Amino acid sequence: MEALNKLIEAIEKAKNVVILSHVGPDGDTLGSMLAMNEMLQKYNNIKKIDLIISGKIPDIYRFLPRIEQTKNPNNNELYQSYDLAIAVDCASLDRLGDSFDLFKHAKATVNIDHHISSIKFADINIINPDASATGQILYDIIKSLNINITKNIATDLYTAILTDTGGFRFENTKPETLEICADLIRAGADAVHIYQECLELKPLAMVRLQARAIDNAVITDDNKIAYASITRKFLESFNATDDHVDGISKSLREINTVEVAIVFKETTKGDTKISFRSKNVDVCEIAKFFGGGGHKLAAGCTIQKNIADTINEVLPIVKKQISRL
Ligand code: 5GP
Ligand code: MN
Repeated sequence: MEALNKLIEAIEKAKNVVILSHVGPDGDTLGSMLAMNEMLQKYNNIKKIDLIISGKIPDIYRFLPRIEQTKNPNNNELYQSYDLAIAVDCASLDRLGDSFDLFKHAKATVNIDHHISSIKFADINIINPDASATGQILYDIIKSLNINITKNIATDLYTAILTDTGGFRFENTKPETLEICADLIRAGADAVHIYQECLELKPLAMVRLQARAIDNAVITDDNKIAYASITRKFLESFNATDDHVDGISKSLREINTVEVAIVFKETTKGDTKISFRSKNVDVCEIAKFFGGGGHKLAAGCTIQKNIADTINEVLPIVKKQISRL
């Protein structure tokens, strides 16, 4: 609670604020960022709020209210130094990607996060690994400040929690998760519409890319590891973008014999971004070994090698962890 008091103090002092999402933005970081923006509208001392996304707005989150107000870190309307920078859903500084400079140059910094691997990298750290999503922490903050949950806030937070629980199916779905979501529906979140936008409807390029990636996936001899490789060339051949890769690891984990599903994606720099999804093995530990992090059953990292070399390095470690089950 002490951290919350410090956050409020910092908000009440700030004239300008920048809110930062993580690279490869998901529903939790975007919903939390937009809800924080709505919440900060109540503070008359704040004259400028900037919302930062690295790269393009993911297609499936374009429905979120006010998402069109977000800017890229290289936008020329941004300040060099903000009174307050708030990172949402970022377990470590590298998750800020190109937004890192905005964070570094701010006079005060805040980190609101729920990852088990989260590092206290800010001046004020509000970290709760028991929360299903960063959006749930935002809900608690907004409630404790007695701020009215508007339809926009309800939509943002419901999106954050719905997506980070995989549609209320992951083990982070707890009674309070559903209680909060019931409250958000009462406050105006349209559960059916949000579900369709985030978890059902996809651009054609995304569906075709995912179908081919799954078709091409390699299954190890014991059927316990399934992995897909996504090169830039492969992405381009579908006219697809990075956000269209989200969900392939989840689909591969659906194979009933698979313990660990992995997606190896070539980045624009030629590195390899890894997404792990697991049924039992602690993949957060594996991701941390390579400088990444996340949750026990969903984690990621980036390795400065090409896909083939990355696979050779990572697979033996995953196999070893599976053999220990
Ligand atoms: P995804 O596979 O969807 O990119 O990420 C799965 C989970 O792992 C998310 O909670 C995400 O925040 C985390 N994660 C993914 N990549 C990284 C990374 O490079 N570093 C850290 N610390 N966490 C990551
Ligand atoms: Mn999250």
